[in-house]
Amino acid sequence: MARYTEAVCKLCRREGQKLFLKGERCYTDKCAISRRAYAPGQHGQGRKKTSEYGLQLRAKQMTRRFYGVLEGQFHHYYEMATKMPGKAGDNLLILLESRLDNVVYRCGWASSRAEARQLVVHGHYTVNGKKVDIPSYLVKPGETVAIKDGSRQSDKFKAVLEANSARPTPKWLDVDAPNAQAKIAELPTREDIDLEVDETLIVELYSK
Ligand code: SF4
Repeated sequence: MARYTEAVCKLCRREGQKLFLKGERCYTDKCAISRRAYAPGQHGQGRKKTSEYGLQLRAKQMTRRFYGVLEGQFHHYYEMATKMPGKAGDNLLILLESRLDNVVYRCGWASSRAEARQLVVHGHYTVNGKKVDIPSYLVKPGETVAIKDGSRQSDKFKAVLEANSARPTPKWLDVDAPNAQAKIAELPTREDIDLEVDETLIVELYSK
């Protein structure tokens, strides 16, 4: 499966905003966006002239990279979003936000979504008491996500929890930090999602 393997900070600089791809560094002044807030490459600081298609493509790429989802899967979420009641753009973001790897990251139980995905695959989390090792699993209101007891005691998890303890958690997640579990109080709304993107551009791109 082809994943982006070059310097991930370039992706944030290309999109002009933090995509939080590098864990703890993203929350420090070492973040490349804080130091070089322009696109990478020779023409990164040059004049920007973007077509309508270019804007739509950037919105899609930025969102896809933010959640670390490959193109085919991203398009699948779009198809699902169009079949749901409400606005397709909102639905798309809500689906992405409901992925188990994102939930784990939002709870502060992984330093980045990439790390969250890896930890999910390695079976460190449960949903309603049962191990779930599928990063794309979509959580539902009322479910409880937790770190497995055995995993929680490991040095790795102690370090991750310590490093991310100050990160705020969204209100749609009812996090019980001492017990390393979180109840999905409700599904997120668009307002709960901190990605600065015009999601209608993605809908326009795919509806051509
Ligand atoms: Fe993006 Fe994090 Fe790199 Fe900053 S440190 S540019 S947020 S990946």
